[in-house]
Amino acid sequence: MKPPVFEFSAPTHLSGVLERLAHYGDEGRVLAGGQSLVPLLNMRMASPRGLVSINHCDELSYIRVVDGCLTIGALTRQQEANTSELVKSACPLLAAVLPEVGCRASRNRSTICGSLAHADPCAELPAVAVALDAMFVVRSQQGMREIDAAEFFVSELCNSMEPGEMLEAVRLPVAKADSRVAFSKISSRGHGFALAAVATQLDIAADGTCTSARIAAVGGGATPIRLVDAEQTLIGRRVSEDAARAAADAALPMLDPSSDLHADSGYRRRVIGKMVRQTLCQAAGV
Ligand SMILES: Cc1cc2nc3c(=O)[nH]c(=O)nc-3n(C[C@H](O)[C@H](O)[C@H](O)COP(=O)(O)OP(=O)(O)OC[C@H]3O[C@@H](n4cnc5c(N)ncnc54)[C@H](O)[C@@H]3O)c2cc1C
Repeated sequence: MKPPVFEFSAPTHLSGVLERLAHYGDEGRVLAGGQSLVPLLNMRMASPRGLVSINHCDELSYIRVVDGCLTIGALTRQQEANTSELVKSACPLLAAVLPEVGCRASRNRSTICGSLAHADPCAELPAVAVALDAMFVVRSQQGMREIDAAEFFVSELCNSMEPGEMLEAVRLPVAKADSRVAFSKISSRGHGFALAAVATQLDIAADGTCTSARIAAVGGGATPIRLVDAEQTLIGRRVSEDAARAAADAALPMLDPSSDLHADSGYRRRVIGKMVRQTLCQAAGV
């Protein structure tokens, strides 16, 4: 099926992109890697009047640490981040999740920010953003504002950006040197979106007690969910199999998974419980 007719522009600078987005307002869309938007256009599930490509804006392609945060620009491809030593050292949770997102071919084009802006409830990268309280740097011709992860994801394929705004970068707090991470995903095919997934990061003190726990799930609702009730059961405790089981039990009431062609809500709830326990044991090394 062919996409609806649209006007196309490909500015070479951010200012040009913002000018175009302001011109189109809510009839405009950013085109990044196109790996989700182009299928939506072809299936006529999206019909913007104007498509504004950022693929010629080299100033948006960067990975750097600024003020204690790993900062990733809007044009940074997933594969570039997947092979980045800076990502591995500054944000091991992101490094653990990236190889599980799509396949080499899709990651070569897909951007980190595109996956976040797309806000698919079964996309894995939003789980990392929510687990780590990422900050979303959003810009328009009117200026810049920051949105925290808890506010950014509104519902399925819906984020809290306004017309004329774009996601310029995402900022993830740099992890402690001895942070431990684990990621678990269930999908119906070898690659492709998760049916459900859990991303976990733990900080363990020298005496073996947990000083910080970050756990987030996707597939457990219309948006990624930070499992704070599960996290709180772990602080000040040793992360044993029993503690992991108790945390998984505390996570279940926070979930509101849906049923679809691929899996029913009961199945998603069960596997998320299992993956919370599994990732906690893996991260804690028990
Ligand atoms: C074969 C295949 C397998 C895949 N498997 C997975 C998978 O396992 N897990 C997964 O999470 N994803 C998967 N994807 C999707 C992939 O990660 C997409 O690339 C991603 O969802 C969107 O990123 P993009 O850069 O391609 O954005 P695009 O497709 O260009 O845009 C997606 C949406 O986000 C908006 N957008 C993009 N960038 C910005 C920005 N900077 N500011 C504001 N809005 C913006 C667009 O307007 C559009 O609405 C797969 C894709 C393919 C083709």
